[in-house]
Amino acid sequence: MVKETTYYDILGVKPNCTTEELKKAYRKLALKYHPDKNPNEGERFKLISQAYEVLSNPDKRAIYDRGGEQALKEGTGGAGFASNPMDIFDMFFGPIMGEGRGRPRERRGKDVLHQLYVSLEDLYKGAVRKLALEKNVICEKCEGRGGRKGAVDTCTTCRGTGMQIQINQLGPSMIQQVQCRCSDCEGQGERINAKDRCKQCNGKKVVRDRKILEVHVDPGMVDGQKIVFNGEGDQEPGSKPGDVIIVLDEKDHPRFKRSGHDLILRMNIELVEALCGFQKVIHTLDERDLLVTIFPGVVIKHGEIKCIMGEGMPQYKNPFEKGRLIIQFLVNFPTSLPPDVIPRLEECLPPRSGQMVPDNAEECELEDMDPEQEARRQEYRNVYDEDEPGSHGPNRVQCATH
Ligand SMILES: [Zn+2]
Ligand SMILES: [Zn+2]
Repeated sequence: MVKETTYYDILGVKPNCTTEELKKAYRKLALKYHPDKNPNEGERFKLISQAYEVLSNPDKRAIYDRGGEQALKEGTGGAGFASNPMDIFDMFFGPIMGEGRGRPRERRGKDVLHQLYVSLEDLYKGAVRKLALEKNVICEKCEGRGGRKGAVDTCTTCRGTGMQIQINQLGPSMIQQVQCRCSDCEGQGERINAKDRCKQCNGKKVVRDRKILEVHVDPGMVDGQKIVFNGEGDQEPGSKPGDVIIVLDEKDHPRFKRSGHDLILRMNIELVEALCGFQKVIHTLDERDLLVTIFPGVVIKHGEIKCIMGEGMPQYKNPFEKGRLIIQFLVNFPTSLPPDVIPRLEECLPPRSGQMVPDNAEECELEDMDPEQEARRQEYRNVYDEDEPGSHGPNRVQCATH
């Protein structure tokens, strides 16, 4: 049980979530609220990064769970959050984003990330998805010069550097030098007379263009996998365009849950089926029907697990190798039985185990209990019950005596 849930709420996860769930939640939200896509959500992006930074670090998460944000601030000596949200983003999305940065200086545009929702069926069979995106391309009319040949002059204000030095007088003997973008040429270092400007791009050298990318989702690809389109990012004169990177986002499936190469299916069966055998049809992700048979005489226990080899997810780049289909049987027990069938039923079942009752045994009443409701009540108590710090013990059960 945790003291505060704010960070968990920001990421939309439960306080008992796994590292995987945490990563997935951060990935989704960071891509959605990245300043490139949502310039007005900067504050939100910062909060998402902050929450992820804390919860993804086991030590910090433990401190936060125990004492909330206050304990975290005290623990770091009041320094608060050291990391820049962008650094966390770059670290998370890893080596692709960093590519080209360490190499010899070559001007390169920004990479653009997009997430693509895919179903488990898509990841099983493979799929081709079309993605329309808008990007800057170099203006064909002026070939990226922005104007008529020879009409481009070096900016006189900044002498072509694109930068201006501003000097601020801070005090009687103190001045501050600030470098900023040249306002006359908007940092381009050159100027074009209004009448010589290219009509198509209005002197901007680039125009917006719509492009359709064909994304090939291969069988066996996984949630979070990246598909890279080299050089499909925004074009800009004098620099290499960045990449368009598609990040796959696997949608939850109503019947199957994926676990690596395996698929997990929870199958409900009736008590009569569990005891007397049954046949069930499983509809696969590629639209086939599998027949499973439990012969009479074989008993299936509640929660029992069996598997079918080769009916799990295909392996990426080796799609004919497949994982297992793991089936967990959940037995629906009747809530009550008509009393007259009980003797007949007892005749068929293995005999009861005997029970000796001591003379001084005390008779007790059994009450119904719903563990899920119990857990919810516990959570509620932890969120709102600030006065009783001692009541946070796990699974506290009160015994009534009379
Ligand atoms: Zn042009
Ligand atoms: Zn200038």
